[in-house]
Amino acid sequence: MKFRNFKMVDYVVYGRGCFDQLDEILAPKRKDEKPVVFLLDYHFQNDEAFKSRIPLRGNDQLIIADVTSEPKTSYVDSIAQELKDKFGTVSGVIGIGGGSTLDLAKAVSIMMTNPGKAQDYQGWDLVKNPAVYKAGIPTLSGTGAEVSRTCVLTGPTKKLGMNSDFTPFDQIVLDPELIKGAPKNQRFYTGMDCYIHCIESLQGTYINAFSRSYGEKALELCQDVFLHNTEWTDESDEKLMMASYAGGMSIAYSQVGVAHAVSYGLSYLLGTKHGIGNCIVFNHLEEFYPEGVKEFHQMVKQNGIDIPVGVTKGLTDEQFDTMINVSLGMAPLWENALGKDWQQQMNRERLRALYERL
Ligand code: NAD
Ligand code: ZN
Repeated sequence: MKFRNFKMVDYVVYGRGCFDQLDEILAPKRKDEKPVVFLLDYHFQNDEAFKSRIPLRGNDQLIIADVTSEPKTSYVDSIAQELKDKFGTVSGVIGIGGGSTLDLAKAVSIMMTNPGKAQDYQGWDLVKNPAVYKAGIPTLSGTGAEVSRTCVLTGPTKKLGMNSDFTPFDQIVLDPELIKGAPKNQRFYTGMDCYIHCIESLQGTYINAFSRSYGEKALELCQDVFLHNTEWTDESDEKLMMASYAGGMSIAYSQVGVAHAVSYGLSYLLGTKHGIGNCIVFNHLEEFYPEGVKEFHQMVKQNGIDIPVGVTKGLTDEQFDTMINVSLGMAPLWENALGKDWQQQMNRERLRALYERL
């Protein structure tokens, strides 16, 4: 058995208001006249008060990240190419936003130092050169993208991350104040990504004590925020931010499961976003995760959230096949969920029936 020797985020600063330390944190990373590039989630594009707190110096660049849809490899390439054309290289790339913006920042920083196109690096350990300095500053909590060794991208042929030791951030800034203004539904969908990660990893076959320690804590924090104390307070933001961090750490030695495998298919075909897609799928996974799904239904009700239904109605056989192909391609997820003989348990017919229920 070979144990994973995984790369983690180098520096973590946590605390309400710690965003204002960013200038100080970046100062030693500034090289020659090369700019620091801030990729800002487009949600904040007109938020002048927040933008004025971003420490722009010299020829630093503020780029608004269009995350209307989740990041595409072509978008990564276009940002990186523009920066290379203008500046040769940059001092760093700082992502400020939800999981999509964080992933975009990771990918752009990698493409500043690696030849070819982003799509060439979708997979495991394909990245050759260390990225430029990168920092991640979440404004939504739940994905764990702030700590993970991947950045999920949709390319011309697949939706798959650049999984590599060069992918994790050098620095993350965890300031619970930044997640305060999110819409209720979005906060829930992204928060449930963490909850679902926990259920899938804790009940998976890959789990070990390392991952369980983080996963159980993350699960407990999610239950606290969405089940036991559903009032939205500063404290619940603080807990949710740490749930996401711990949930991300838990995945380092484990894997997600059925909800993610199925929702990847939905997202590839229909462009369904990750958080809501997981909720749409998990809503119907009683046969795999009976207790988790029961609790999920309770949380949906208690928080007054709408989970779409009937999203696959009227799709053609060909479209179902596309989703099934994408989903069955996620072998490690199925193996984690169902064990080594997963192919005997999950076949095209069973999966088709599951997609039809969504
Ligand atoms: P998101 O980043 O896609 O953002 C969802 C929406 O919320 C966007 O419209 C965004 O502009 C907006 N938003 C962001 N911050 C806000 C705030 N504070 N207030 C109001 N609106 C805000 O959502 P997400 O759920 O955080 O991230 C999903 C993405 O993360 C997907 O692309 C998924 O593939 C990726 N992901 C990555 C990993 C990883 O390990 N790298 C893990 C899970 C998911
Ligand atoms: Zn997820």
